[in-house]
Amino acid sequence: MTDQGEGGGFSTRAIHAGDLPPGIAEQPVSPPVWLTADYLYEGLDHYAEVIGGRRPGYVYGRHGGPTHLALHRVLASLEGAEDAWSFASGMAALHAALAVLVRAGDHVVAQRTIYGGTWALLTTTFAAFGVETTFVEPEAEAVAAALRPSTRAVLLETVANPTFRVADVGGVAAVCADRRVALVVDNTVATPYLLRPLSLPARPAETLVVHSTTKYVGGHSDVIGGAVAGDAGPIERVRRAAIELGSTAGAFDAWLALRGAQTMALRLDRQCGTAAMVAAFLEGHPRVERVGYSGLASHPDHGRASALFDGPRYGAILSFDVRGGYEAASRACGVLRVVRVGSSFGGLHSEICHPATTSHRQMPPAERAAAGIGDGLLRLAVGGEDPADLLADLERALEGA
Ligand code: PLP
Repeated sequence: MTDQGEGGGFSTRAIHAGDLPPGIAEQPVSPPVWLTADYLYEGLDHYAEVIGGRRPGYVYGRHGGPTHLALHRVLASLEGAEDAWSFASGMAALHAALAVLVRAGDHVVAQRTIYGGTWALLTTTFAAFGVETTFVEPEAEAVAAALRPSTRAVLLETVANPTFRVADVGGVAAVCADRRVALVVDNTVATPYLLRPLSLPARPAETLVVHSTTKYVGGHSDVIGGAVAGDAGPIERVRRAAIELGSTAGAFDAWLALRGAQTMALRLDRQCGTAAMVAAFLEGHPRVERVGYSGLASHPDHGRASALFDGPRYGAILSFDVRGGYEAASRACGVLRVVRVGSSFGGLHSEICHPATTSHRQMPPAERAAAGIGDGLLRLAVGGEDPADLLADLERALEGA
């Protein structure tokens, strides 16, 4: 995919789409953080006109302010979307995206291997409100077969966390377009630098791209945030949901995401390159059973990923099965010094975790096994450290396993 939209390439838009509009003689290079809960008006008419949408302006923190709008411009531009909205977390963004699409009695089809929090959101919160979810493989035929007359939305993760299988995003989007079912794509792991689901040749009008901006958009492990991008109509509904749910991002968090987005391509070039080296090293190691990284030619989704992603980049996160199950995995993690055991990914620190006992602990063991999350599986998020230091650290750790 090469379409970078208007306004230059990916990094140019990441850096400039958030600039203040012209009109101020001396423009601050870094946009100010508007840390205000509300706004003051010239009089009653002014306030009524702004809140009534008859005059442009700002209303209240939950409705977003200038810092948010700068972030929304950047994210919309990077995703090739008409608009975007920012949230207090990725989970809040997923909640709002689904809440505007489904009602009690509706059915959702979701990818079997998804982030554990998303699985819990569907099987607890949405189930309690009368929304049923069927989990299937992220393939066009499997999704088409699971659709019911009551199916309102299909939920995909472009790259499944933590198996890093690559979904048939194009095929599923075409099925959704054909059957007039909304599509929600969690693009957190792939990022818009690799893939922009809104630019697929066939997709439903109600396509919402969701991000945990906590990860590669923020990029520095210093902010929790989320975003939804899409066509203007659906995003207006998402905006209203965010105001009602009270889940719009805080201004300072929006600013951190905005600052992080500017260096996303720089960081990802480095981190994806290192991840490819690490994946090749792990694949050749006798203590490693299987590596989940679509950049490896041996990976079952290598062809699909090569066609789908702007490349050659296959992401900065991978998983691997250590021979010997949990005991061996735990011993290896105990030896690591540069890579640290941690709960997240997308930052500059390399982090490793054991999904079966952490992010995916809520999944029943049988479903976890069906999703490919075994007891020896470790997820490794590759950061910005020197590749040689990471490889030496992993070598020591695997000897210790
Ligand atoms: N989506 C994916 C793929 C994730 O990995 C996560 C968190 O790890 C989320 C959504 C939730 O994001 P947040 O932690 O910002 O709420």
